[in-house]
Amino acid sequence: MDYIAILGDSGFLACRECKYSILPSSLDYHFRRTPHGLSTNIREEILSEARKYPSLIWEASGIKDSEIPSSFPFFFCNLALYSDGLACQDCPYIARSTRGISKHYRESHEWENPRGKGRITKTSLVEVPWESSVHCQQFFRSIPGHSYFRVNPKRPFLGRETRPREASLPEDVEDRREVEIRSESSRPSSRNSQGI
Ligand SMILES: [Zn+2]
Ligand SMILES: [Zn+2]
Repeated sequence: MDYIAILGDSGFLACRECKYSILPSSLDYHFRRTPHGLSTNIREEILSEARKYPSLIWEASGIKDSEIPSSFPFFFCNLALYSDGLACQDCPYIARSTRGISKHYRESHEWENPRGKGRITKTSLVEVPWESSVHCQQFFRSIPGHSYFRVNPKRPFLGRETRPREASLPEDVEDRREVEIRSESSRPSSRNSQGI
């Protein structure tokens, strides 16, 4: 099944093409619409694939933003990856616009923007409390589940650690090995090279 990807143990799956999470209850609608326009048969296949994973969160009411980790030691290959995150230094919050992070600092940390309400000139260099250029991803595009979390852009996560109900073990083991090899090769080698 090439249309959806199970995102590890997160409880979510993603549309491989759109690169964001879709609730299983919305899969039929999602794949019926543009840009997919898939036939009923294929949509049913996609749904039955999703049903193999009992730990998936099926409805929006099951999504708890507070339970989504604020960071992952890898990035999900099947979610859009951003490198322009602005991260709060006092809590895990990440925004992708200056307006968003300023609002957060004002509302959550009683911060006063030194720029005040005046005009922002291009030349004004003001020290800001947040960290810039943070790599981040999000599961969903809308609330709930839309918060950004920090990721490690050097380590792709392809495998699925959520076990399907009728999973055959050999395939599962193979999946994991692939991830290990990939993450190993993307890291500067600290072990003895196997040599050529
Ligand atoms: Zn899609
Ligand atoms: Zn904060």
